[in-house]
Amino acid sequence: MDFNYSDKTAAMRARVRGFLDDHIVPRIPLHQVEVHGGQFPVSFMADLKALAQSEGLWNLFLPALRDDEPGTRLSNLEYAPLAEIMGRVPWASEVFNCNAPDTGNMEVLHMFATEAQRERWLLPLLAGEIRSAFAMTEPDVASSDATNICTTITRDGDSYRINGRKWFITNANHPDCAFFIVMGKTDPDADSHRQQSMVIVPMDTPGVEVLRNITTLNHYSPEGHAEVLFRDVCVPADHLIGGEGDGFAIAQARLGPGRIHHCMRAIGMAEVCLELLLARAQERKAFGKFLHQHGSVAEWIARSRIEIEQARLLVLKAASMIDEVGARAARKEISMIKVVAPSVLTNVADRAMQVFGAMGVSPDTPLADYFTAGRVLRYADGPDEVHLQTIARLELKDSVESRADIAAYLTPPEALAAARTA
Ligand SMILES: Cc1cc2nc3c(=O)[nH]c(=O)nc-3n(C[C@H](O)[C@H](O)[C@H](O)COP(=O)(O)OP(=O)(O)OC[C@H]3O[C@@H](n4cnc5c(N)ncnc54)[C@H](O)[C@@H]3O)c2cc1C
Repeated sequence: MDFNYSDKTAAMRARVRGFLDDHIVPRIPLHQVEVHGGQFPVSFMADLKALAQSEGLWNLFLPALRDDEPGTRLSNLEYAPLAEIMGRVPWASEVFNCNAPDTGNMEVLHMFATEAQRERWLLPLLAGEIRSAFAMTEPDVASSDATNICTTITRDGDSYRINGRKWFITNANHPDCAFFIVMGKTDPDADSHRQQSMVIVPMDTPGVEVLRNITTLNHYSPEGHAEVLFRDVCVPADHLIGGEGDGFAIAQARLGPGRIHHCMRAIGMAEVCLELLLARAQERKAFGKFLHQHGSVAEWIARSRIEIEQARLLVLKAASMIDEVGARAARKEISMIKVVAPSVLTNVADRAMQVFGAMGVSPDTPLADYFTAGRVLRYADGPDEVHLQTIARLELKDSVESRADIAAYLTPPEALAAARTA
């Protein structure tokens, strides 16, 4: 087992970190000012994207990238430390065309699109010319159970007709968002995992209405987590992805690598929180001592380092397993890191906020945004409890094959009694 990054990964890390430090970090205040002033996309985004693409720092998330598609092909294990660096600034991954939910949609289209769908939707996404959204969650049903989804996708001659209400649809407020991948039911009478299908719905189709951008913990995201109404929306039948009834299987395929991308970025955010905590704790004094000289703060520093390190090792293991045995066989590791990483981020962000005093919860530091990012990740791509259930189910299944011989671990009380009297 080698815990060092390969030469290739180390070189890519240096390039992504250099790009981040030279071109992205210096623009953090301008980004904030423009977004809060209502300018979105921000004025410099297109230029930064063009620069990243020209430097080959583009579409780094897609191991299946074809030779004729723009970008640099990496394995999940090679990409993980790069995504961690991108995570240091919440909007940075877009600069490298590695941002959710477009990455998940590109993966879906890569795996399941027809040639016509690929030309019309995948290639512009890979070029960074358009953005997209993934519409599964609904206000009226518990959407962590995808079999509950009740938006209807009904065949109507050469078309599909879509009716339903979705919410928390990331990117739907982005001016460049060109289409949704919508999950709904084509056959409510089929077996529960064959009722759903996925269909591409262009943003400008009549009947699509983006109702509002929902803030999360009062955090405003300009690209939106939107509530969207689909009222009698009609798209050609060739907009279906895969076949009727394939929606559930496609959703599972989509959420494997995408889930751990969020975790990689969460680790990057947690690192920034710890760095800020360390800096503040060494420059500010209370009761005659620097903050880090108080035992509780020193313990927070140590605990934060331990938690980040554990999470990083687990994310690398999950990434390596996706590469080697596929997302399905790695689903226990994917679920484990999906539970761990968001909590590590909220823990470390919370400690950093505390060390900053009142300033920690103000907009003058990014800590509140990072805390929010960690907190919402405990739902996005499935709530903790669903992942815990998956882990427990797989653990129980594995234990059937390797069940411990309980008796071998027990010491009979008679044996202990005999030993005492001997
Ligand atoms: C910032 C953000 C961005 C998002 N982006 C998107 C997006 O782009 N597209 C999209 O479709 N959705 C998106 N979502 C929605 C997200 O995927 C859902 O919130 C999530 O799947 C949970 O669904 P729900 O909200 O309906 O919760 P419900 O299904 O109603 O669950 C509520 C709670 O019930 C509990 N629960 C559920 N199942 C179990 C179980 N098996 N055991 C124990 N307890 C359980 C959990 O505590 C859970 O939090 C986003 C959410 C957020 C916050």
